[in-house]
Amino acid sequence: MEQPGTAARPLRIAIIGAGPGGFYAAEALLKKRDLALTIDIFNRFPTPFGLVRDGVAPDHQSIKAVIRVFEKILADPRVRFFGNVTYGVDIHHDEFLHYYDQVIYAIGAQADRRMDIPGEDLPNSFPATAFVGWYNGHPDYRDLPIDLSCERAVVVGNGNVAMDVTRILAISPDELVKSDITDYALEKLRQSKIREVLLLGRRGAAQAAFTNPEIKELGKLEGVDMIVDPTNLELDPTSAAAMEQDRLLKANIECLRAYAACTEHTAPRRIVMRFLASPVEILGTDGRITAVKIERNRLVEGANGELRAKGTGEYETIEAGLVLRSIGYRSLPIEGVPFNSSQHTFNHVAGRIVDAETGKVKPGEYVVGWAKRGPTGLIGNNKPDSAATVGSMLADLPTLAGISDDQRDPSQIETVLRERGVDFVTYQDWRILDQYEIACGSARGCPRVKLTTVPEMMAVIRRQASA
Ligand code: NAP
Repeated sequence: MEQPGTAARPLRIAIIGAGPGGFYAAEALLKKRDLALTIDIFNRFPTPFGLVRDGVAPDHQSIKAVIRVFEKILADPRVRFFGNVTYGVDIHHDEFLHYYDQVIYAIGAQADRRMDIPGEDLPNSFPATAFVGWYNGHPDYRDLPIDLSCERAVVVGNGNVAMDVTRILAISPDELVKSDITDYALEKLRQSKIREVLLLGRRGAAQAAFTNPEIKELGKLEGVDMIVDPTNLELDPTSAAAMEQDRLLKANIECLRAYAACTEHTAPRRIVMRFLASPVEILGTDGRITAVKIERNRLVEGANGELRAKGTGEYETIEAGLVLRSIGYRSLPIEGVPFNSSQHTFNHVAGRIVDAETGKVKPGEYVVGWAKRGPTGLIGNNKPDSAATVGSMLADLPTLAGISDDQRDPSQIETVLRERGVDFVTYQDWRILDQYEIACGSARGCPRVKLTTVPEMMAVIRRQASA
């Protein structure tokens, strides 16, 4: 065949995953006005937008405004949405390569990292990612058996996810009424007995991963005291020098020092921040968490010059009934795609998937987002990252010329899915569900009421589609 990308033979692209990485890749492709193309976006759930729907905290609605950009992409006549279609189950790896010229894996990072300490799997010890999914109505986590009847929760980790879950545990539920938090989560938070959230950072305050707005936001919560021991903020010379070079780090430390300076604590709830402390065991009796044993750390210089935490052998045990580990997400391998199991990302060079053993590029396969670079960065960081992968895809177009083209016909996809009994969700179907959720929300003065099971979602779509 001729090089695809002409009106006679458009470039045929599949994107697996309808989160920010996938949408920004679609946006970069659609901007190439001289390139005729079609894009099919596949997603496991009927609902698009990935972590923008299921991850962003309900009290951070303004971050969700990016959905308007993604909606425009879905509405583009060159784009089709196939929701409720599971890669590797409903359609397989070799079939994607069969129907499309180029396939982009944009599956994100659905799993969590583990602490690998005794007691980690006790009831009421969860990855923060599960708690986030629970309050946001992610179908996989809506039934999380979380128990908020204890007085102290321990959150492990110092990233922005730790900030989110700490805030949601400490905030007055009244502050969430006008958000899109799920009803069941709001009700459970109203019954919560948690009075203290203990936030543990394994390294020092100067190494914390949270950003300025997030740490400042904790101090603005109504009815919540921030408690930081000033001795925890004494910086070693390397950290002190780093702070002088880094305006944002300095702002973090100044914020923490302001918290530490405040010694009057009368609010009904509190957030206690401790640095240089790692959990080494979660203790429990009768299947319930009773305490967390922590070890104090000191900073040592690693081989690459980075400061890392080293246990001092000094331990203490702190009573607690809930543990959330917020120590990072992790991608999972999927059918047919080489995976780097030490970094938990897909094997790639410049976004091109490469075979792990031979190091050779797998033609026509690409990766974007957290599956490409690991679970770091804000939503907007995906834009340049996805554009870089699209750059590789465009550079590869000449290699597609001359390839046999008989079967590369994505118009067959709908037939294939129907023959397999897959009840796929189109963009128009998603609009039905979207409008239904928004209408339910506006009746209550909130942005939307999310449906949280796939059967409920499909019932709304099919009922209204057939009306
Ligand atoms: P993150 O920013 O990578 O933070 C992970 C934290 O876990 C770090 O403090 C890390 O400490 C700690 N950690 C890792 N392994 C640990 C262990 N074994 N024991 C104790 N602590 C451990 O990850 P994240 O919070 O999951 O966030 C992911 C990305 O999403 C980030 O880029 C974040 O900014 C973004 N995000 C943004 C927002 C927002 O803008 N509001 C909200 C949520 C998420 P070390 O530094 O010592 O490794």
